[in-house]
Amino acid sequence: MSVNLRVAVVGSGPSGIFTAQLLGESDRVDAQVDVFDRLPVPYGLVRYGVAPDHPKIKSIVGAFAEVLADPRVRFFGNVTVGNDISLAELRNYYDVVVFASGASQDRRLGIPGEHLSGVSSATEFVAWYSGHPDAGVERFSISGHTAVVVGGGNVALDVARLLNRTPDELRRTDMPEHVIEAIASSGIRDVRVLARRGPVHAKFTNKELIELGSLTDCAIVVDPVDLELNAEDQEGAANPLVSRRMAILKEYADRGSRGGERTLRLEFNTRPTELQGDNGHVRSVRLARGQGDDISTTDVATQFVVRSIGYRGCELVGLPFDEHRGVIPHREGRVIVDEEHLAGTYVTGWIKRGPSGVIGTNRLDANETVTAIVEDALTLPHARSEKSGVDPLELLRAREVAVVDWNGWLSIDQAEVELGRDLERARVKIHDRSEMLNAAISR
Ligand code: NAP
Repeated sequence: MSVNLRVAVVGSGPSGIFTAQLLGESDRVDAQVDVFDRLPVPYGLVRYGVAPDHPKIKSIVGAFAEVLADPRVRFFGNVTVGNDISLAELRNYYDVVVFASGASQDRRLGIPGEHLSGVSSATEFVAWYSGHPDAGVERFSISGHTAVVVGGGNVALDVARLLNRTPDELRRTDMPEHVIEAIASSGIRDVRVLARRGPVHAKFTNKELIELGSLTDCAIVVDPVDLELNAEDQEGAANPLVSRRMAILKEYADRGSRGGERTLRLEFNTRPTELQGDNGHVRSVRLARGQGDDISTTDVATQFVVRSIGYRGCELVGLPFDEHRGVIPHREGRVIVDEEHLAGTYVTGWIKRGPSGVIGTNRLDANETVTAIVEDALTLPHARSEKSGVDPLELLRAREVAVVDWNGWLSIDQAEVELGRDLERARVKIHDRSEMLNAAISR
């Protein structure tokens, strides 16, 4: 016999949808799942974080759509939990509330000049080029010859690669037209990616590193000096993935720059120590390069700096929060307060484990959380459907919240495809929130 469960999932990114999917696949519970998102559209980081020129990774939305279109699942878009509806109201109605709210905050370098205009986080820049409704349409104007990207992870490579894509390549993505125009007319010819440690410790993956080599008319520049390893790093380089990375970097270093083209430099053991400005706008960045006592300093002229040094989760009212790690404390997905499980409350994805891994990692993560939910449903009486609260949809309607349901999203989806057709592109994202809401109700 399976147990009936009413479940709220807060967040419709990969971790939230995998949770809904795995609950639906369980033959031990019969789950009705409502998926909430503060945005009018689903898919979270797949829509607003995965690089627009990575359509293969994005194609997972096909499988995600099947989950959200299931009659046992409802999508409540444009609903902010904690604002439009409280956690207490959710807990009154649902047996289980799962937080899958991701890690949408940025981290700071903590160096002088970080406040200057022209300096932004990858969180903001990626959101903007992905057409995220919270990133104003006019948020970025990109200028100067050199862009500096701080950080040695995959997001830093995404940013550096997209700044080097040709307009034709960008038009094959779903990026808004004004974003393509801003990148195409930026005048950036030199992108410098700064990793504070040596190549052995880089966070980017080999697939993304190799992809840089296929950029049109762009030389990938690596200083051979950066590939000289000390004894400790040589040990690290014995790892097959690191050894492959070193081989790819060596190929780039051997190739060198051929002149007359754009450059994308991968600079290791290099970190910014200060940003200098003119009239409130960044003018140059001071770089410290080297290791140990052998550090040299140079100033690089730039008007565009992106710090890509990782994401952070943000605190949710009524839930515990680990300020240091930027995550909700948990045990196997059960939210923990004072060593005890906050009954009926669970967590999954980046807000659970921090911003790491690829999309598929979230399925494993959701599996752990769903296993805990199912175990508790079968063993703990409080987890059964004995709740007396009001259906959130009624509460939200009474509060005149413009809930975007699954059909509303399908209308936005259709509007984006039509916008693309008009511009001879496969799809063009709607960037502005009110335009999205209009599209949701106009069909
Ligand atoms: P990440 O992989 O954690 O990389 C962050 C980088 O920032 C590291 O190189 C780190 O250096 C550096 N950093 C941190 N604090 C710094 C500081 N104060 N000064 C200078 N550098 C600093 O984070 P991410 O690039 O944001 O990626 C997040 C996750 O999404 C990762 O799991 C990533 O693989 C994934 N992702 C995957 C793809 C893909 O599969 N195509 C694309 C994008 C993102 P240290 O190592 O020295 O701390």
